[in-house]
Amino acid sequence: MTKYVYLFREGNASMKNTLGGKGANLAEMTNIGLPVPQGFTVSTEACTRYYADNKTVAPEIEAQIFTALAETEKEYGKKFGDLNDPLLVSVRSGARASMPGMMDTILNLGLNDVAVLGLARLTSNERFAYDSYRRFIQMFSDVVMEIDKQKFHHALEAVKTENGCKQDTDLTAENLKEVVRRYKEIYVNAMGTEFPQDPKTQLMEAIKAVFRSWDNDRAIYYRRMNDIPGDWGTAVNVQGMVFGNMGDDCGTGVAFTRNPSTGEKKLYGEYLMNAQGEDVVAGIRTPRPIDTMKDTLPEVYEQFVQIANTLESHYHDMQDMEFTIERGKLFMLQTRNGKRTAGAAVKIAVDLVEEGQLTEEEAVLKVEPKQLDTLLHPNFDTAALKAATLITSGLPASPGAAAGALYFTAADAAKAGKEGKAVILIREETTPEDIEGMDMARGILTARGGMTSHAAVVARGMGRPAVVGASALHIDEKSKSVTVNGKTYHEGDKVSMDGTSGNVYEGMVATVETAVTGDFAKLMSWADKARTLKVRTNADTPRDTKQGVEFGAEGIGLCRTEHMFFEASRVKAMREMILSDNAQQRKAALARILPFQQKDFEEMYIALEGRPMTVRYLDPPLHEFLPQLGMKDEIAAIAKELGTTSEAIVAKINDLHEFNPMMGHRGCRLAVTYPEIAEMQTRAVIQAALKVRRETGLDVKPEIMIPLVGTVKELKFVKSIVLETAEKIFAEQNERIEFQVGTMIEIPRACVVADKIAEEADFFSFGTNDLTQMTFGFSRDDAGKFLDSYYSGKILESDPFARLDQEGVGSLVKMAAEKGRSARSGLKLGICGEHGGDPSTIEFCHNIGLNYVSCSPFRVPIARLAAAQAAIKEKQAKK
Ligand code: ADP
Ligand code: MG
Ligand code: MG
Repeated sequence: MTKYVYLFREGNASMKNTLGGKGANLAEMTNIGLPVPQGFTVSTEACTRYYADNKTVAPEIEAQIFTALAETEKEYGKKFGDLNDPLLVSVRSGARASMPGMMDTILNLGLNDVAVLGLARLTSNERFAYDSYRRFIQMFSDVVMEIDKQKFHHALEAVKTENGCKQDTDLTAENLKEVVRRYKEIYVNAMGTEFPQDPKTQLMEAIKAVFRSWDNDRAIYYRRMNDIPGDWGTAVNVQGMVFGNMGDDCGTGVAFTRNPSTGEKKLYGEYLMNAQGEDVVAGIRTPRPIDTMKDTLPEVYEQFVQIANTLESHYHDMQDMEFTIERGKLFMLQTRNGKRTAGAAVKIAVDLVEEGQLTEEEAVLKVEPKQLDTLLHPNFDTAALKAATLITSGLPASPGAAAGALYFTAADAAKAGKEGKAVILIREETTPEDIEGMDMARGILTARGGMTSHAAVVARGMGRPAVVGASALHIDEKSKSVTVNGKTYHEGDKVSMDGTSGNVYEGMVATVETAVTGDFAKLMSWADKARTLKVRTNADTPRDTKQGVEFGAEGIGLCRTEHMFFEASRVKAMREMILSDNAQQRKAALARILPFQQKDFEEMYIALEGRPMTVRYLDPPLHEFLPQLGMKDEIAAIAKELGTTSEAIVAKINDLHEFNPMMGHRGCRLAVTYPEIAEMQTRAVIQAALKVRRETGLDVKPEIMIPLVGTVKELKFVKSIVLETAEKIFAEQNERIEFQVGTMIEIPRACVVADKIAEEADFFSFGTNDLTQMTFGFSRDDAGKFLDSYYSGKILESDPFARLDQEGVGSLVKMAAEKGRSARSGLKLGICGEHGGDPSTIEFCHNIGLNYVSCSPFRVPIARLAAAQAAIKEKQAKK
């Protein structure tokens, strides 16, 4: 019989796949003797089985749950559902990877109208009993029955107002009884039945709700953002309750063993006295810094510090812990490797190596490659910052600079972000529903909440700058405006915010670039030692090239030459070329482009200092260089500039019209029709190389890449033009230079006949944007319109244009790599699509034996780290 349910003492930290992160760590803490309220974990397999069984819990699983519950009852010497001294439990979700705030926890389960009386009698604390009961009703109604939280919030506020209570803790037992009465009324009105009184029903319903929550919209979105597969499922933890809300010697809190914002080695956290569960995170009262516990509860504080140390050296990583104090006794409720900012991640990884806790390779694995993004992106310019007008400040919850327009709801922020606007999301406080808006925002600003509030935790995880708890902000969501110190700002008004200092400024403050130094450089040097995959940059200009090299690129993997033609001074010659009637005219126009292109290449060779450069020949359909038919003024202006008529241009635009330009006259097809284009580009590449070598003595390594090849004959045709032209130049200049000719593999047919193509190619570079487009038959410019329904319909889990579809497109890549190498053993293999900077794709590229990945300059460090992690993981797996 499959085991679906594990007592905490039966598990351990290595069982994350089965027990989820939370369950595995509760088991581990139990094993190392820490004070953990006992209970059991229903496995992730039970969740998968729940979905396989049409959203029902199989009788055998239910039986195992109640067996484990009986064990837990023994542990406590209390009975679940007992009317005098009931065992109460929490029901907590916990997937393999932590998904903060994505799934909801239910506390105090097992209470009902009679048991609450027993609890009050037993503890001689009626207030506590009813406080627990009202929390349970509210959480159960929200999580299990999906009754609008707001209704409960309003009812609670109403009772507070009627009785002159400022804070939740001011409510008396009588007040709380009234709250319970109103809550139950809300429940009956919403559900048409009474609040369930049978604890076993409560438990099974709660477990099912956790299973269901695995598939709510927030969870699906979070998984897509973080590459978490949908079939993992979540585990459910059922755990005996301990109470932080029994009085003033009770409390609850969260803490990190090191500062998650800066990485500083110092206990960092907050707690609230007489509170339960998420009160700290929800920002209901302002929590106190953990340090102050030294004075209020010195013994508990001492014990906690010791536990924190034990846990950190046990896991060899910074821990994020949740705890509760019940009548002066400390209980640990959770520990996990804490989320941290990129800066903190790097510092902690390096510090742990220096403290002898980690090897260099282990440290490399500790930093999430995508996170580095924030370290590479700009900070505010100090001078501009001094001149800026300070609006207000709050807590520096997630570092980095962000400037943009204010949006007051997550939906508005998401919409504006998708339109490409720079967005600052401003909220009273954020909730898990806001996740998409937060993701689309450049920065997040809240008026309430502490350093461990939802906004702070999620923003740090996403690498978004955030300032929270800026309490001078008076936000009016209805009118979409915010008033601060007498001044009002509206939707669309520009502000700048500094997640490192907590300051918020008026207008768009200028930013400066960052550099790879200090701990970051150290970590990257360890990564470079470990990796075998090379990392190049995509660069079309000397500026990008320099940036890429600065970030550690080992060459250019893709230079898109057409980007050099769009500039105003050049596009004119390009248009002349397009409007030409014969080869002679075309050649004349191309001759005017040649010097520009050659000059760019020269500068790029110099910036590369001897590293190789892959130059892709002209790729886009020619109509992209002409205006659209409707743009009459533009057409007239161009006609005037070129000394021709609007009619002639309109005729050409019509002539170039294609029904499906992405599959039209582009790529190597252009060179097949107009060989003189390839001739000119070869001149630019080779002449620049000769000149730079002559003048600087630098090694120059041109790699000419013919795009969109589907048959070997296409490649052969264009390659012969390249070779002939090169020979001409060598003869003219009486000097030779080595260069390679290869191709971009981006058409499925090319993958299938890769062995034939390899006979003519020195290298393959996988153009996975087009390859994805043509393998799926999805237009990459239009797919955004329907991909959302593919995610919600669970047809796709992630955007195949962002994360390589390894099953389909990846198989083609693998096949082409194998076939290519079978024909030519030294064939160099790389990838240059958007995917080249995506960590999961990079791991795939490493595993199938590519030589390099190429990505945009800012992703180069990410790729270096991801490539190192792939190599280290492979090594560890072999052991
Ligand atoms: P999340 O994954 O959102 O952090 P948790 O399952 O950790 O949710 O639960 C949130 C909080 O609820 C915990 O930090 C803790 O304060 C409280 N809690 C959970 N289980 C118990 C319990 N058995 N006794 C007391 N408090 C609990
Ligand atoms: Mg938790
Ligand atoms: Mg392409």
